[in-house]
Amino acid sequence: MPDDRVRVVFLVLDGMPAPVVSDDVTPVLDAWCTASGTTPHTVAAVLPATTYPNHATFVTGVAPAEHGIVGNHVLCDDGRFRHARKIGLHVPTIFDRVTAAGLTSTLVVGDQELVGVMGGTGAGSHWPPDGRVPDGAGTDEHGYLHDDETLPVLLDAVASNVDLVVGQLNAPDTAGHVHGPTSDAARAVYLATDARLGAVRDAVEARGRDTVVMIVSDHAVEAVEVAAPIDLTPVLEGTGLTWFPEGSAALVYGEHPDLDGLLGGVDDLAGSTTAAPGVHVVWGEPGRWLCFDGIDAEPGMHGSPRTAVQLAAVVGTHPAVHDLDARIQRDGFDATSWAGEMARLLLP
Ligand SMILES: [Zn+2]
Repeated sequence: MPDDRVRVVFLVLDGMPAPVVSDDVTPVLDAWCTASGTTPHTVAAVLPATTYPNHATFVTGVAPAEHGIVGNHVLCDDGRFRHARKIGLHVPTIFDRVTAAGLTSTLVVGDQELVGVMGGTGAGSHWPPDGRVPDGAGTDEHGYLHDDETLPVLLDAVASNVDLVVGQLNAPDTAGHVHGPTSDAARAVYLATDARLGAVRDAVEARGRDTVVMIVSDHAVEAVEVAAPIDLTPVLEGTGLTWFPEGSAALVYGEHPDLDGLLGGVDDLAGSTTAAPGVHVVWGEPGRWLCFDGIDAEPGMHGSPRTAVQLAAVVGTHPAVHDLDARIQRDGFDATSWAGEMARLLLP
C-alpha cells in the first residue's frame, strides 16, 4: 500500500451532547484527541436540529433546502407527510462521488432508517441490509439497533480496506430522550458509547497511519419541563398552513401574509426561521416541546437552535489530521462542511 493513501472513517455519535465531552464522561475520545494532537470542537447543526436533516447534510454537504430532507417527516407534493427515509435526496452523496471515482465505501448505522435517509444503497455496501432490523437483532427503547449489534459490523469495516467508512452509533440519542440529558442513566450510556469508541480506536491503530477519523454528533438534547406539548393545530386551522412536530421544534409549511402574527399568538413559542421556500422552523421556550395534543412527552428532546450544537473531532496519526483540526475553527466549519472534507481527502 503506498504511503500517501488515505482512508476516511466518519463516525456519528447520535445525540451525544458536545458539552459532555470531557475526560470524565468521554475519557477515550479525550485521550484519542490528545494522542492525535487535536482538540474536540463544537460546530453548528442545521435546523431543525434533528437526526435526519443533519445526516442528509453530512453526506451531501448541503443544507436541507437543497437536499430536500427538511425534517424527520417531509410534506410531499400530494399533501401527505412521509418519513424521511422515503423522500430520496435531491443531490448526489459522498457515496455516489466515491463510487464514481472508482473507490469503495460502506455505511454502517444503528438507526436503520438512515440507510434510506443517507442514500446508503449508493454506497458499495450498507448495514443493516435494506435498512431493516435483521431477524433476532437487539434493539433499543426506540426500536433502533442496539450498538452491540452495530459495533462489530463497524469494526469489520474499519479493519477492511474500504476507502470510506461512514458509521452511526445510536445509543446516546435514545438515552437522551428516554432518560433526560442530565440523568445518571444518560451519563452511563455516554460513557458506554465512549468505551465503544475505544474499540474503534484500536481497529484504526491496528491499520497504521492510513486513516483520518472524523467523529461528530448530529445534535445535542434538552430537558422537557412541561409535559403538555405546544400544539399548533388550533392556530393554523383555516390558514392554509400545515405543520409537523420535530421535538423541541416544528416545521410549518406554506406561506401566509401574517405568519409572524399567527405564531406570535401562541404561548411559549420562542422563535422561527425559514429553512427552505415555504418551510419554516419554529421552536418553543426552554423546557417546551411541540406536538399534537394528547401525545406523551419524553424527558429529553431536540430540534430547537439550543440543541443545534455538534461535536466535531478529528483523530488519527495520518498527517492530514492536524491540518483538518486546525481548519475546523479557522474556516468556520458546520454540518455542511464534512462531505467536502471527505471528498478533498479521498478524491483525485
Ligand atoms: Zn433524537
